[in-house]
Amino acid sequence: MKFFYLIGACVFFISGCSQAPVYYFETPRELTDEQLKINFIEAYSPYLKNITFFVDAGHGGEDRRNKGSKGLAIEADVNLRVALALRNYLRQAGVRVIMSRDKDKTVALKDRSILANKSGADIFISIHSNAPGQEGDNSTNYTSTYYHATESDYEFEPMEKDLAKYVQRDLAYAMRNSGGLGSFDGTYSDYHIYPKQGFSVLRLTTIPSILVEAGFHTSTWEEPRLALEDFNKIEAWGIFRGLCRYFKAGIPKISFKDQTANEETQLVTYSIQDSTSIDFKSIKVFVDSTETQRFTFDEKQKMITVELPILANEEKSIRIIAANKNGNFCFPFYDIVTDKLLR
Ligand SMILES: [Zn+2]
Repeated sequence: MKFFYLIGACVFFISGCSQAPVYYFETPRELTDEQLKINFIEAYSPYLKNITFFVDAGHGGEDRRNKGSKGLAIEADVNLRVALALRNYLRQAGVRVIMSRDKDKTVALKDRSILANKSGADIFISIHSNAPGQEGDNSTNYTSTYYHATESDYEFEPMEKDLAKYVQRDLAYAMRNSGGLGSFDGTYSDYHIYPKQGFSVLRLTTIPSILVEAGFHTSTWEEPRLALEDFNKIEAWGIFRGLCRYFKAGIPKISFKDQTANEETQLVTYSIQDSTSIDFKSIKVFVDSTETQRFTFDEKQKMITVELPILANEEKSIRIIAANKNGNFCFPFYDIVTDKLLR
């Protein structure tokens, strides 16, 4: 492994000369050897090729307040450099990428979600760097990744946590940072940070979404690294690698198959496909937000059949969650069932 030690230049003050701290970063082998990079991208692009990503570079334009104490790392610019590098890697893998901004401009928080929701993208990733709650704290530094959750489990999408876990692991590894101690694996529910609301971009975005806080621009140690484009490319490579590994682990795909009824019950059948197989114990079925045990799983046919009472001119919402043998949950799946066999 190749280490780059960068020794800060002398900075002259009225009082004399002081030296910036020594800091380092380690460049992944794929970014120093073009052939390794090509091999990696070729190996993973089949798993990504049908996914469209929406990449959101946090802040920018009129919102350029967040910065490190040395003024080297301005969060809006750091986020944009990471987002553009991530777009490059994804494009090299043949993936479609949409961005909330690709230059320094103002985009309102709620507009980021509106753009993402209208974009037809499958996954939303918001990129940020962090600052501590306490003013004057210039030592806190870690990598963290957030998913949206609320008090009620029903609103919580397990696949967003899966995605957060993969991205967090590879991003933290690429930066040589640990995760925060507030969570075991460095992923957090945004409910943890903003009780009862979470992050606006995660709350208002209806497609699966995560938000990374790559490092602390307020950290004396982290700030000079975040200011370097070469390091931002390493951050982006970490996020990209996490996405590659997440999609390689497979995502169960649920789709409606059949609906039958007799005088007492209705049976609604869904097919569930995955590149591995489905973990039966992970399957949960909800009818109108309440979990039900009235379902069967046919492993051979890869079918889930949900039993409902006869519906008298009413409709029921069905939600199914299920994970594959790699532990990856399906994308959010909801269906509306009526008493009439209209399908
Ligand atoms: Zn931010």
